[in-house]
Amino acid sequence: MKTLEPRFVDTIPRELEDGVLYFAMEYGTVLHKCCCGCGSEVNTPLSPKDWNMKYDGQKVSLSPSIGNWDYPCKSHYWIKENKVVWDRTWSQIEIDENRRLDNRIKTKNSYPNKQKNKNLLRKILDWLA
Ligand SMILES: [Zn+2]
Repeated sequence: MKTLEPRFVDTIPRELEDGVLYFAMEYGTVLHKCCCGCGSEVNTPLSPKDWNMKYDGQKVSLSPSIGNWDYPCKSHYWIKENKVVWDRTWSQIEIDENRRLDNRIKTKNSYPNKQKNKNLLRKILDWLA
């Protein structure tokens, strides 16, 4: 079974090494090279709406699973305690449906922020007038 080595970095390296999970905490994201070996760089942002990680000082897990639907390999796997656990490839219908749900959740959650920006813009406009 393929394992990944967690590595905490301050800056995102230009070239990612195979088999390394880069934790760029300053950027709030995790990067790695696709575990199928295709060489694609996979970016999994950490946020309540994206991925969350569990790190016990040695072993790291990411959830939910990583689906590389935007890459030709379309690989799908979980990272559980540094190990790559393969999952089945989704059909195009499943991918589209998941993307639709995902977008809906994100749009809903980002709404208060948009409202805040609008209010700020109104204030600036009032001030200018
Ligand atoms: Zn791949």
